[in-house]
Amino acid sequence: MRVSFCGTRGSTPAPGPDFVQFGGHTSCVALSHDGPADQPVLLLDAGTGLRRMPSFLGAVPFQGTLLLSHLHWDHVQGLPFFASGDRDGARVTMLIPMERGQADASALLSRMMSPPFFPIAPTELRGDWTFGPLPEGSFQAEGFTVVSRAVPHKGGRTVGLRITDGRRSTAYIPDHQPTALGPGPDGLGEYHDAVLELADGVDLLVHDAHLREEELEAQASFGHAAAEYAVRLGRKAGAAQIALFHHRPDRTDREVARTVARFADGPVPVFGAAEGLTVVL
Ligand SMILES: [Zn+2]
Ligand SMILES: [Zn+2]
Repeated sequence: MRVSFCGTRGSTPAPGPDFVQFGGHTSCVALSHDGPADQPVLLLDAGTGLRRMPSFLGAVPFQGTLLLSHLHWDHVQGLPFFASGDRDGARVTMLIPMERGQADASALLSRMMSPPFFPIAPTELRGDWTFGPLPEGSFQAEGFTVVSRAVPHKGGRTVGLRITDGRRSTAYIPDHQPTALGPGPDGLGEYHDAVLELADGVDLLVHDAHLREEELEAQASFGHAAAEYAVRLGRKAGAAQIALFHHRPDRTDREVARTVARFADGPVPVFGAAEGLTVVL
């Protein structure tokens, strides 16, 4: 499978010359099957990186599934600007994590996307759109097997995802506050069953690296993990490589590179997720 990073920032987009290498768009990752028709069919999150989809598809409408990890702004604000999905000929199945008691996925989404916050509601997007709840546990989507597990974050239900095509696998855990469950063995947060299951032996772990270890005490309560946690989780779980993801919007290219360099001598390769990068697994 191919994993393409379309947006790697957390919280807000980050424009400007200091944000070129790792990119400025918020969270969005596109998965493709290997093969001649290797266009993205499974999208993870709808941050502003979703705007990049025509660079993969050209004039072809998107046909596939869009999974949300949660509903925070930096994971949904690209939705109204998803040109490949908001057009005739598009087919989009959009699955979103929902709390118990919430039944209508499009109604939930329309709380952030409808007047006066935005001119149109999700159901007014062009093309053939279906909205539904993201299942807990294992399900099939576009030829991939997906496992979703709830993870601690802040402010609403949040899931991590594990995706496999039967040969290769990736885990996507963009927003995760492991310290919510306790300090864990090293003070970085708990290595709890849900994330260990999601990351178990994956070919690529994409994980929240919003913070650095020394920022945890002051800022972990905002809902995020340190890069050091992401790397130790990957090592514990037997991941083959680790992508640091959800870069803080004020973290310049130089600063992200410095964070990545902390792990240069480790046993598992670590890189900073960069907008425009495609990893072939
Ligand atoms: Zn986020
Ligand atoms: Zn979030």
